[in-house]
Amino acid sequence: MKTIITASLTGAISPKEKNSAIPCTPKEIAEDAVRVWKEGASVVHLHMRDEKNQGSMDHARFRETVQRIRDNTDIVINLTTSGKVGVTDDERIGHVIELKPELATFDAGSINFLPDGIFDNTAGFLSKIGKIMIENGVKPEVEIMDVGMLYAVEYYKAKGILLDPVHYQFVMGFFSGIAPTPENLLFMLDKIPEGSTWSAFGIGTGHMPILYTAIAKGGHVRVGLEDNIYYAKGQLATNSMLVARAARAIREFGNEVATPEEARKILGVNK
Ligand code: ZN
Repeated sequence: MKTIITASLTGAISPKEKNSAIPCTPKEIAEDAVRVWKEGASVVHLHMRDEKNQGSMDHARFRETVQRIRDNTDIVINLTTSGKVGVTDDERIGHVIELKPELATFDAGSINFLPDGIFDNTAGFLSKIGKIMIENGVKPEVEIMDVGMLYAVEYYKAKGILLDPVHYQFVMGFFSGIAPTPENLLFMLDKIPEGSTWSAFGIGTGHMPILYTAIAKGGHVRVGLEDNIYYAKGQLATNSMLVARAARAIREFGNEVATPEEARKILGVNK
């Protein structure tokens, strides 16, 4: 089988002070996208940072980064709709309407942040962005941070807000979400409809168990500094190192690493 590697280059939270390899400017992010594409990533999941390296939904930064990546690679683009708390719906979705990436995130429920605050994904917001994605030909990457969110997907499907086949991304190890263990991933996989596509990753120390379980169970994988800043205990990672290791693990298992063109076919999206 062909396995898709998604590289989550930056995220909104991983602190640059803890790992200087986290790309933060549009130029840094685009250059890292080229590097991970050469190592085998076929999807790049993008967040922006402001001049102080904090999470940002600045549309000009998204525009510049996406342009630079499209100029230099054929990698599939996946844009976050959740790069900063407390911004308007338009700030969360306007860049998707403008740039029409192949994929954008659809976080299937709300969840707590530490030390305070809510990762806010109301049914109203999700209904709105789901419809916008359909109108703009953007496929939702449905992020599942806890088991109940799997059942919420059925509600959005019944309302025509999500269309079959759904592409799931299991986000495991988020505070107050499901813990990143192989058993928990197997439990959730049992509940997704046949014909769905899925990918998974564990945050922090859950990274390796979920990477290997996903490969063993025929899923796709995500790696990157958004989710995990270490390569091994005490050793800082770069995005290229994480993607290269995932590519090796996929090949050693006996699968092939999907190219961007193959990833588009698997996900049913067009450039
Ligand atoms: Zn993200």
